Amino acid sequence: MNSATAFKKHYVAIIGGSISGSEAANILAKNGFRVVVFEMNKLPYGKIEDGLPNWHINLRNRQINEIDSKLDQENIRFVPNTKIGKDIDFLDLVNNWGFSAIILANGAWQDRGLPILEIDKFLDKELIYQNSFIYWFNHKHEKDYDGLNYTIKNNTIVVGGGLASLDVVKIVMIELVKKQLFVKKGIEVDLFTLEKEGINTILEEYNVDFNELEIGKAKLIYRRTAKDMPLKTPKDDTKESIEIAENVSEKLLNKYQEKYLFEFIPLSIPVNFVEKENKLTEVVFQKVQVENGKIKPIENSFFNIKTEMVISSIGSVPEKIDGLQYEYTSLKMREEADYHVFGFENVFAIGNAVTGRGNIQESKKHGQQMTEKIIDKHLTEEAFKLWLTNHNNNIRSKVAEQLNSIVKEISDTKIQPESIIQKIINKTDAIHTKIGYTNYSSWTHKNLPVRLEELLKK
Ligand SMILES: Cc1cc2nc3c(=O)[nH]c(=O)nc-3n(C[C@H](O)[C@H](O)[C@H](O)COP(=O)(O)OP(=O)(O)OC[C@H]3O[C@@H](n4cnc5c(N)ncnc54)[C@H](O)[C@@H]3O)c2cc1C
Repeated sequence: MNSATAFKKHYVAIIGGSISGSEAANILAKNGFRVVVFEMNKLPYGKIEDGLPNWHINLRNRQINEIDSKLDQENIRFVPNTKIGKDIDFLDLVNNWGFSAIILANGAWQDRGLPILEIDKFLDKELIYQNSFIYWFNHKHEKDYDGLNYTIKNNTIVVGGGLASLDVVKIVMIELVKKQLFVKKGIEVDLFTLEKEGINTILEEYNVDFNELEIGKAKLIYRRTAKDMPLKTPKDDTKESIEIAENVSEKLLNKYQEKYLFEFIPLSIPVNFVEKENKLTEVVFQKVQVENGKIKPIENSFFNIKTEMVISSIGSVPEKIDGLQYEYTSLKMREEADYHVFGFENVFAIGNAVTGRGNIQESKKHGQQMTEKIIDKHLTEEAFKLWLTNHNNNIRSKVAEQLNSIVKEISDTKIQPESIIQKIINKTDAIHTKIGYTNYSSWTHKNLPVRLEELLKK
């Protein structure tokens, strides 16, 4: 039996179909393995569809095309609308389905909890988490949107500091200005224009003074300083490169503030809240200082900010799946290799599924760097495009590296008898019949939501 024929006797399950999952599926399929990709959503685009703000039109479309080209092939069965841990029990998948291996590529979807005792009682009222906020922003224009609805308030507080928190604070300001421009001045500007040109430029163009709009600016509150924001990766570990990167991060943040008119409050952590009649009305912060990279709260340095809306954007962690072990928020791994999941012979984890962090370090190895020119001339789209494309390519190359070893391990396992292969086909066929799935391209085509840019063209 040649190796491709032998590999065909193995079925591998991948959980999650986005950047990491599609890369892994493609490599396995090209090696002759049969693969089932289980995806909890209708579409396999993960953070690209639901986490990347919808003004990144080209970037989103290109990443989606790439995922499609990897998943739409003969050896891959795509099984959407199927959440492992809910629709199928994880241990059932491991023990009873007969897969030679199971690869977790389920990313990081659970918002890290805002560390204030009992604050979650205001969830989806005065407190919103980043993932559901961006989901709402990206999908609220769809006719059949049935998710949560948010009304953005004046004086919104965004707690965060990473790239995603900048997206959140931009969304808040763009939505507020878009609405108030219409209410106060009868001026209609779409969000794509506000995002691209910047709020400051558009107000100038229409000769509108920001104060006339009666908007309470959103505040981005970060526990470190602008220099510490992960907006620029240093070229290498030398002091000079780190300093250059810090200065670029500071400059970038200033540009963002100039364009989108939000306030930035560094070196502060949220510690408590004030409520009136069961509503959150203020958040209590404490000033901190950074000593040797560590954050130290300063005694008696509390201050309150009045607000009706807090958006927590302090990171995402892998969603826990029953049957797997975790250490705090990270998936517990075996010690000897970075992709072996603890407690199993044939379960592997790749991409952001382990800690929630992608392999950003890798970008030094492969990376193109953001240049000063890009920062000055095309701040938002270009800089972010470069970061995300680079980051996703790094995830893909890391996945490819891991898959080389995983392929070897799978091929060393016992080949599966035809009856097991057939059982997997039958079970996945049954899911396909239930949800009306015929093939990858017609399914993704049918379920791709209407895009805002298309609606605005009409
Ligand atoms: C706005 C934004 C901010 C970002 N910030 C960061 C950052 O700070 N740090 C960083 O490292 N990367 C960040 N990224 C990069 C991003 O995480 C990667 O680009 C990429 O999306 C990760 O790919 P993935 O396949 O590992 O995970 P995901 O894109 O999250 O894909 C996981 C897939 O698994 C599916 N899934 C999840 N659970 C299950 C289940 N139980 N059963 C079946 N299917 C499941 C999901 O639906 C999804 O399709 C950011 C991206 C964006 C768009």
